[in-house]
Amino acid sequence: MNLWQKYVRPSSVKEAVQALVSAPPPAVPIAGGTDLMLDLKQGRHAPVHTLIDLTFVDEMKRLELRGNELFIGAAVAVNRVAADPLVAAHAQALVEAANLIAGPQVRNAATIGGNVAHALPAADGTIALTALNAQAEVASPEGTRRMPFTALFAGPGKSSLDKSREIIVGFYLPQARKGQASCFKRIMRPQGVALPILNCSVWLEREGDLFKEVRVAVGPGGSTPFRAAEAEAFLRGKPLTEENFSGALEALLAQAKFRTSARRASADYRRHIVGGLFKDALETAWGRAA
Ligand SMILES: Cc1cc2nc3c(=O)[nH]c(=O)nc-3n(C[C@H](O)[C@H](O)[C@H](O)COP(=O)(O)OP(=O)(O)OC[C@H]3O[C@@H](n4cnc5c(N)ncnc54)[C@H](O)[C@@H]3O)c2cc1C
Repeated sequence: MNLWQKYVRPSSVKEAVQALVSAPPPAVPIAGGTDLMLDLKQGRHAPVHTLIDLTFVDEMKRLELRGNELFIGAAVAVNRVAADPLVAAHAQALVEAANLIAGPQVRNAATIGGNVAHALPAADGTIALTALNAQAEVASPEGTRRMPFTALFAGPGKSSLDKSREIIVGFYLPQARKGQASCFKRIMRPQGVALPILNCSVWLEREGDLFKEVRVAVGPGGSTPFRAAEAEAFLRGKPLTEENFSGALEALLAQAKFRTSARRASADYRRHIVGGLFKDALETAWGRAA
């Protein structure tokens, strides 16, 4: 049986949305295909009638400064995110996450938008973008709108987008200023591919020896990409000391809902190792922001 009947290549966002709403259903966007093709072939995704290739949409392949923000199109390949000097300057955590996704061949095809749209709570690019406080630009037949990044997710593997009429165009990130820095770290099985046992991303702003602002994301720390808001609140206005780190970790552990995943790790194991990973990411970002 064919996994799809028709393949279309729009070249603008408008055409892509138009194709999504007007093509014979079911119509599904495809970017790098590194998740979708496996899901189709292995029966985790029902066969589709029309695949809408987003990788020829010019706007979605842009990566540039716009005003005081960095724009990264959803169809930008992960290896380009990893190598781009603008991303390095403004979103180091995202460079680190992109460099760890899969191997070079997959990174050449996989896109940052596909990483996010698949809506897995431990996807590496997704966790970095969560800590970086990205905003998503979403297109529908009514036009485009911006939404907070975390509002994109409805559950494990379930985005909040109306898949019959909406696509992610790209992501906006605030430009980094002096005193701000970020970091991404993960723990992975030595032979592991795809998702990590645990990942953690931190963005922070220092005011001398105090946390002026801090954001912490952990994957998988819940059914959607998890922000450790309680730990962030605990650290704000304080210096980085052993005692304050312990308080922040306690707050993170009280808030996170670690899950057991059959092939990767138990919830207990994740609770046990998250402290070391969080500390490593926090101290690295703290040092970078000095
Ligand atoms: C061997 C291997 C190793 C991997 N390792 C990792 C890893 O270490 N870390 C990690 O996080 N991931 C990993 N992945 C998963 C995958 O490569 C990434 O999630 C990748 O970024 C997905 O992007 P894509 O462009 O290939 O998405 P696709 O497969 O094209 O699409 C994925 C889903 O998103 C939808 N979609 C895509 N783009 C958009 C858009 N702009 N708007 C709306 N919907 C959209 C599609 O319809 C589909 O449902 C791995 C995959 C493989 C095969």
